[in-house]
Amino acid sequence: MTAVPLVEARDLVKTYGSRRQHAVRAVNGVTLKLMRGETLGLAGESGCGKSTLGRLLLGLEAADSGSVDFNGSPLAPAGTAEWRRSRARMQMVFQDPLSALDRLLPIATQVREPLVIHKFGSQAQMDERVADLLNAVGLTAAQGRRLPGELSGGQRQRAVLARALATSPDLLVCDEPTSALDMLVQAQVLDLFAEIQSASGVAILFISHDLRALRRVSDRVAVMYLGSIVEEGPARQVLEAPRHPYTQALISSVPGVHGLNPHRILLGGEPPSPTQRRPGCAFHPRCASAVQACGQTVPAFRPASSPSHRVACHLLPTGGTPAAIARTVA
Ligand code: SF4
Repeated sequence: MTAVPLVEARDLVKTYGSRRQHAVRAVNGVTLKLMRGETLGLAGESGCGKSTLGRLLLGLEAADSGSVDFNGSPLAPAGTAEWRRSRARMQMVFQDPLSALDRLLPIATQVREPLVIHKFGSQAQMDERVADLLNAVGLTAAQGRRLPGELSGGQRQRAVLARALATSPDLLVCDEPTSALDMLVQAQVLDLFAEIQSASGVAILFISHDLRALRRVSDRVAVMYLGSIVEEGPARQVLEAPRHPYTQALISSVPGVHGLNPHRILLGGEPPSPTQRRPGCAFHPRCASAVQACGQTVPAFRPASSPSHRVACHLLPTGGTPAAIARTVA
């Protein structure tokens, strides 16, 4: 029997702005699945629609069209009692922990808040749960008594994670959760995500422009360009043998231990404007491999190196990975 995905989005579309020439199509027909207990990394440049997609999956924003199923049932409209019940099972972790926390409340009080809202149990049960959550993310009871401003950036992100885990969610949507942290703390927090996932079985949508972070935590990776997913598959296949020219360029731009990659692919053309969509493949104005069909027809999303590795590019199956850019994300 095929397992039911925890989250299944079909053909999601979200446009901002009503005037046609200024309308921004932030999410453009995204279909994806997230299974229980897996981490899906969502990659792409700033402004490609990653964060909007995360909000659509949680129901924090309504899509213009398309659907989201959570645990096999359609996600209820935002604000309804049913949606609030689902929200206890789906939590979000933001980039900036300081703005996600109340600066005037002790950390332990904020970790306790979701337990109070969702009527977790007696006072003693909540005390015990808060202590367990702080311990699980590596914070001491003394740190729990402090205000957010008295903790480091890494400790604050741990506190945000403890609060997000309070209701034992099935899904965490993490939007650039380590971008504001320095490299060493980033590594510690990424390890913490992996530990929490293996201990709790929570599914994670990990949104990041940092391919190294995605490599560290993801089971699968999806790459977005101008509102659409252009490549998706097992993390190793996407990050070590990318088949879409945009993914290849992204990966080639990751610096190695000796600095910038000498084989880095510099994209031509102007950065994309989501208000000015052209026919055909959205990437074709910047793609060095473009052929005539690229400016006319939107490429289908097709299996590449395996049935679970799919790519939207007219050049498949002939568009392989040139040796010069076959560079992996360390
Ligand atoms: Fe490049 Fe054409 Fe493939 Fe788009 S479809 S990525 S323009 S080769």
